[in-house]
Amino acid sequence: MRCARRRRARSDVELLRPSSADEATAALGNGSRALAGGTELVPLLREGLVRADTLVQIGDVVPRGIDGTRIGAGTTLAELEEEPQIPQALREACAHAASPQLRAMGTLGGNLLQATRCWYWRLGFDCWLHGGERCLAKDGAHREHAIFGNESCASAHPSDIAAALVALGATLRTTRRELPVTELYRLPSEDNREVTTLARDELILDLTVPSPEASTYLKAMDRRKWAFPLVGVAAARFADGIRVALAGVAPIPWTLDDPEGLDAATPLPGTAYKVEIARALVRRALAGVAAQPR
Ligand SMILES: Cc1cc2nc3c(=O)[nH]c(=O)nc-3n(C[C@H](O)[C@H](O)[C@H](O)COP(=O)(O)OP(=O)(O)OC[C@H]3O[C@@H](n4cnc5c(N)ncnc54)[C@H](O)[C@@H]3O)c2cc1C
Ligand code: SF4
Repeated sequence: MRCARRRRARSDVELLRPSSADEATAALGNGSRALAGGTELVPLLREGLVRADTLVQIGDVVPRGIDGTRIGAGTTLAELEEEPQIPQALREACAHAASPQLRAMGTLGGNLLQATRCWYWRLGFDCWLHGGERCLAKDGAHREHAIFGNESCASAHPSDIAAALVALGATLRTTRRELPVTELYRLPSEDNREVTTLARDELILDLTVPSPEASTYLKAMDRRKWAFPLVGVAAARFADGIRVALAGVAPIPWTLDDPEGLDAATPLPGTAYKVEIARALVRRALAGVAAQPR
């Protein structure tokens, strides 16, 4: 097995502060990266897992704040967890994520675009997602990994918030297009190992989050606080039915059409326990949203 702390971080990175979204996207692309709260990007740069000649500080050009059903991508998780106007599932997903310090810095846009927490990837092993030949977690340590969509890469999507937004049927507005949050993500394939559909020079500007009749987010984790989801379950009730989405179970947020969908899980030996946790949380979430008044 080849192990490489692949690259050293660069110390001569330029910081740009554009004053418009157009200026920011023009500066993005080869060798540059958008910087929001930096809680994800800065550690990746420091570890040499992401390379950038230029950081484009997007704080002044990406909307921040909540206006009815529209939420700026620059809004922090701390601002969202305290906002009574947004659906409960989104508030709970934010409140259960990371630590208070990280939530004060971390933005909604950055959360949706965080990289996998798979330790093989984070430690720079030459695994499939890094362009190598095989997934090292499948034959190695994979207790936190996927039970769906794990054919090539068995990583588990770490965003509580993305699962909540998928269940809520939220849409994104970027500098190029409007799309459902589900279409921000794709399962990586042999010829394209990206897990999102966002172009390098595309910015998420804001999200529109429909108001459900009732919603909830439940999370199983190793510690009661400051832990990524082993399994997260979001459920949202609308007039035409209940939508369910899961975090921590596939390389991308995972939609579940009905509880029986869990019978189609393809767990690894070390992740079979997640199927049972998911069954229990889905049952509880469905009962929770059925019981909530409008
Ligand atoms: C120790 C730790 C624990 C955590 N625990 C959890 C958890 O339990 N649950 C959970 O859901 N999350 C968790 N997180 C993730 C955390 O919520 C994210 O790090 C944070 O929200 C990222 O936001 P940021 O603004 O700091 O992003 P940045 O670090 O600035 O950016 C992250 C990525 O997003 C890109 N980006 C940012 N904003 C935009 C935009 N508007 N348009 C296009 N690209 C953009 C950047 O280029 C970069 O690639 C944890 C993080 C840490 C470090
Ligand atoms: S789960 Fe994905 S990121 Fe982790 S070792 Fe396998 S291919 Fe790499």
